[in-house]
Amino acid sequence: MRPIQKSQKLADVCYDIRGPVLEKAKQMEEEGQKIIKLNIGNLAVFNFGPPDEIVQDMILNMQSAAGYTDSKGMFAPRKAIMHYTQEKKIQGVTMEDIYIGNGASELIVMGMNALLNPADEVLVPAPDYPLWTAAVSLSGGKPVHYICDESADWMPDIEDIKNKITPNTKAIVVINPNNPTGALYPVSVLQQIVNIAREKQLIVFADEIYDKTLYDEAEHTSIASLADDVLFLTLNGISKNYRACGYRAGWLVISGEKRHAKDYIEGLNMLASMRLCSNAPGQFAIQTALGGYQSIKDLVGPGGRLRKQRDLAHKLLTAIPGVSCVKPKAALYMFPKLDPTIYPIEDDQAFIQDLLVEQRVLLVQGTGFNWIAPDHFRVVFLPNSDDLTDAIGRIARFLEGYRRR
Ligand code: PLP
Repeated sequence: MRPIQKSQKLADVCYDIRGPVLEKAKQMEEEGQKIIKLNIGNLAVFNFGPPDEIVQDMILNMQSAAGYTDSKGMFAPRKAIMHYTQEKKIQGVTMEDIYIGNGASELIVMGMNALLNPADEVLVPAPDYPLWTAAVSLSGGKPVHYICDESADWMPDIEDIKNKITPNTKAIVVINPNNPTGALYPVSVLQQIVNIAREKQLIVFADEIYDKTLYDEAEHTSIASLADDVLFLTLNGISKNYRACGYRAGWLVISGEKRHAKDYIEGLNMLASMRLCSNAPGQFAIQTALGGYQSIKDLVGPGGRLRKQRDLAHKLLTAIPGVSCVKPKAALYMFPKLDPTIYPIEDDQAFIQDLLVEQRVLLVQGTGFNWIAPDHFRVVFLPNSDDLTDAIGRIARFLEGYRRR
């Protein structure tokens, strides 16, 4: 038999969050080993279940959720999303500008697929949530990474963005709040990106899926609220802010300079139609989530469990010799640095796998987020304080052994 091979489209596509090290972890679990997982931002499995109101409403609506819906989504949840964009001061959004998807993920891939031709370039942050890089590659485009600067609290390096723009650059991706760094961008930074997008006629893809998961009373500004003469595609959903990853419900909102984008929007509509519609129970969940008070505030405010865990994880990690870490202002992650003079790591995937095998702690290596050097890893601070303390203690012991090698 001829070997059956994956398509060439996948040659440059990489998504290491669920990559080979996770496979190793699964195998170890099958053998009966208990692993502490600091690898995926999956809230519900760490006892951060969704607000009861959302679950009850979904159950109630299940009877009416068996049919296909409009390709862009049902009226009521889209209306709720429209109100949300108004709250976020994104202007001029009509019902037609709103698409509901099976999570933001589906819409990220659709947004890129509808846009890119071979040789088209998209500016993507490094580090990034790797679906963005993967979606650009899968769509036949070329991801070009701009640096986020760790010494400046992981802010996008504006000069690097400018230097990387070519005549082929079509769009820029802005992940704010950021995964994996936990950075939250101030208006001044966002405004500079908007100015570049305006001058170079770039589309802005704004991933704002953590826009309510904010610590220290911080506030989030939607980049799309800053201009009406740039085309913005803003992505959000209920996976994180409403702790309902498994309901697979997200949205994409088009705003700003839409007049010149008719053809692209036609392409998006076609892709939305081809997948018929997103799952209807999840659409009901959006409506309830955005319609009421069940926000994540109690978890991230003073004394909230997520905030305590962030503080604890940061304190314990930065107490390890040779480990530094910008304290996250938002989201569920931190992205510590290992001093390369103390830990001369060449292959960070192998490093993370050794940690898994030796200490039964699962992390994701920094290069899995398209980071430029094998000297970072991402920590998800969702496990409870005892498990976090245990896991970071194991990381510390592993690193101590690594120093002695
Ligand atoms: N965007 C970012 C920055 C994420 O971290 C994630 C998931 O971790 C997603 C998008 C995907 O979200 P969804 O569950 O809505 O597909």
